[in-house]
Amino acid sequence: MTERIGVYVCHCGSNIAGMVDVAGVAKWAGEKLKARGVVVARDYKFMCSSPGQDLIAKDIKEQGLTRIVVAACSPHLHEKTFRGACEQAGLNPYLCELVSIREQVSWVHTDKAAANDKSKAIIAGAVERVIYHEPLEPLYLPIHPATLVVGGGVAGIQAALEIADGGLPVYLVEREPSIGGRMAQLDKTYPTLDCSA
Ligand code: SF4
Repeated sequence: MTERIGVYVCHCGSNIAGMVDVAGVAKWAGEKLKARGVVVARDYKFMCSSPGQDLIAKDIKEQGLTRIVVAACSPHLHEKTFRGACEQAGLNPYLCELVSIREQVSWVHTDKAAANDKSKAIIAGAVERVIYHEPLEPLYLPIHPATLVVGGGVAGIQAALEIADGGLPVYLVEREPSIGGRMAQLDKTYPTLDCSA
């Protein structure tokens, strides 16, 4: 199947647009990546805003897009946002690729020409990658509620106590004859001189 890919390049106000020619990069993607399946390429001031997400959703529905690339900020920040926008428009959320031209480009470069070239390279890479994405469905499996904590030092004891306080069964395993780890070997601890045991 020939993919129909939409590319969306975000200004982030002047966060990205101050260093990258966002409109120019979007235009480049629309022209140069056409052969790779790009049928729509747009720039927008704030892509994560509701109008920005609506723009993507509208294109998915009206232009029959099968893959989405968003060039904006770190996936850590907005991957879920754009996946959600795709899902609402009826596209499997895992057919969306978010790449950063903010943290990895505009915020770390001072040469505008180089920043433009790098943005184009990142977007071209994302288009190649998104072609190979496969639609995924969440898998729900029953799990055994008990937890095994290995190591009865202070961290292990604390973890076991917190899990138990949460109402779940927990097994604490320690290879030494007693729990307490290094802490139990100390006499007093700074600064309160409490008895460590
Ligand atoms: S999507 Fe990311 S880069 Fe774009 S406006 Fe929102 S925070 Fe800024």
